[in-house]
Amino acid sequence: MTRALLLATTTGYQIRSFGEAAEKLGVRLVFASDRCDRLDDPWWDSAIPVRFHETSPSVEAVVAACRGQTISGVVAVGDRPTVLAAHVAVALGLPGHSPASAEASRNKLATRRACDAAGLLTPAFHVHPLSEPWSTAHALPYPVVVKPLALSGSQGVIRADDDQALSAAIERVRRLLMTRGIAIEREKAHQFVLIEAFIPGREYAIEGVLTDGALQVFTIVDKPDPLDGPFFEETIYVTPSRAPAATQRGIVDAVDRAVRALGLCHGPVHAECRVNTQGIYVLEVAARPIGGLCSKAIRFLSPDERLATLEEVLLRHAIGEGVSGYRPIPEATGVMMIPIPRRGVYRGVDGTEKARQVAGIDDVMITAKPDSTLVPLPEGRSYLGFIFATGASPAFVESALRSAHATLDFAIDRDVRLALSDPQ
Ligand code: ADP
Repeated sequence: MTRALLLATTTGYQIRSFGEAAEKLGVRLVFASDRCDRLDDPWWDSAIPVRFHETSPSVEAVVAACRGQTISGVVAVGDRPTVLAAHVAVALGLPGHSPASAEASRNKLATRRACDAAGLLTPAFHVHPLSEPWSTAHALPYPVVVKPLALSGSQGVIRADDDQALSAAIERVRRLLMTRGIAIEREKAHQFVLIEAFIPGREYAIEGVLTDGALQVFTIVDKPDPLDGPFFEETIYVTPSRAPAATQRGIVDAVDRAVRALGLCHGPVHAECRVNTQGIYVLEVAARPIGGLCSKAIRFLSPDERLATLEEVLLRHAIGEGVSGYRPIPEATGVMMIPIPRRGVYRGVDGTEKARQVAGIDDVMITAKPDSTLVPLPEGRSYLGFIFATGASPAFVESALRSAHATLDFAIDRDVRLALSDPQ
């Protein structure tokens, strides 16, 4: 039986979706995770315990656990396992992104340096050690963006328009990096912040896969809401892109160059670009697919016209099948990541049934758990839920997502403990 190794951070939709794809393809999934105690996934059987930030012992643990089995491919789910997945692929003699390229793509400073050296349009940047006073922090004109080097999902990414805001932003990132879950990684990268020029413009996400260095872009995703800060919470993704054909070609070309600059060569890629009159800025290229539930918004047709999920396509790719014949479905699709409007305790939501009845809406999934504490960006990470839509045009899908969102009424109580510690 064909086996594929899945390195995953958490339980959740994407693992389940890989599990469904594996069942469909007759592939056995072998799991490795550093959160084994929390995994309750129905597809789960005896995950190999690893620490994503402790590469050597984790590679050894995976190799030892896989001895005697033939593993045909390695898949990283989420951002943190990408570097370990690259090392494991080398150890098992499987194709994958090289460890150095996976490391560079996970580190925002290394990404900036690689893209800059390759002559790509790159925001002016400055790295600031958190051990030094902020006043020496930078010589860039405002506005700037402050960000940690090795977090994801816009966590800790803050725009600053003047000295006071910059000082506050650096302090906020410092405190975030000292929180237990992050400090435990003991990454050297967490001792610095990146300060870079704020790039105005429209933003796009690119989903694709590399096969022996050749980039296949599955789709370009529009982000129609302005992302101007001070925090960069994403809301709507719609595909296919409405950008002019020349812009789309430019985006693909820039991502291709960025991928080469980083040295990524085999496996999924997810890139973010900003486009303005200066040109195309590749803000990041991650060595993994789009995360979690959002991938539900990208659906494929196989060469023989059968529906396939992104996870199915990526699993096929990981085990060595060709996926060049897979293309996105002809309809427009989209997702709204429902933002957390404020800190507080989530009590419930009204209007989900009405939202589901909006024309074009496929599903409304509220993922926030009643009575849980909600922490918005820049410290928090998750959303209240997701709305999915399909339709004849991107404009229709965008409007369906907005109409459905407008019917939702979330009850969020102010938490007294949070109020006491709230920096605002
Ligand atoms: P992460 O990997 O945590 O998502 P990014 O560096 O991709 O961090 O930044 C998250 C978001 O913040 C981007 O998608 C973009 O909207 C915004 N952003 C980041 N850097 C800049 C910049 N230099 N100029 C303008 N917006 C930025």
